[in-house]
Amino acid sequence: MIDIVKSTDQSQYDDFQLVEVVFLNGNTRFLVNSLLPTFWTIVQAPNARIHTDPDRKRIVIPNPYLNQSGNMFSLFHEIGHGIVDDTKNEMEIEEEIFLRDKYSQLGPNSLSAMEKNRFRMLVVDSEKEAWKWALKTITNCRDRGLDLEPSLTKNDLKKLANQKLASYLR
Ligand SMILES: [Zn+2]
Repeated sequence: MIDIVKSTDQSQYDDFQLVEVVFLNGNTRFLVNSLLPTFWTIVQAPNARIHTDPDRKRIVIPNPYLNQSGNMFSLFHEIGHGIVDDTKNEMEIEEEIFLRDKYSQLGPNSLSAMEKNRFRMLVVDSEKEAWKWALKTITNCRDRGLDLEPSLTKNDLKKLANQKLASYLR
């Protein structure tokens, strides 16, 4: 069972609400937020799409979201981005945001040869790293008796990650 604890002290200026994601299983209580790098938060908004916002160091999730199989794995992927992004400098983060926006709004062919190279280095590599981190961490939790994706086998998770990655590797 997953419990979403909303922050009561809401000083946000937008619709995003600070949340704590708690996984409950018998006597086990696991705070998913504890995996986040320092200063990072998870926020929730009704019509959001799941994504990482490296500028504000936050992960945005829709509401509802975590009641569907595979979505906890996706949240772990976004936390993986947070961890990967924490090793990048500001210029790299800005460049990555620019390339991601251009790619998603105008398509892969809008990138110059040089931009394509940078896209592979900054975007595709961080996608790979973030999925790798998500798979490793979900598996580690599972090995310790904490199964955050009970209806998916390790192979299912690998397949999911590869499907998502394939969309970047045209
Ligand atoms: Zn990603």
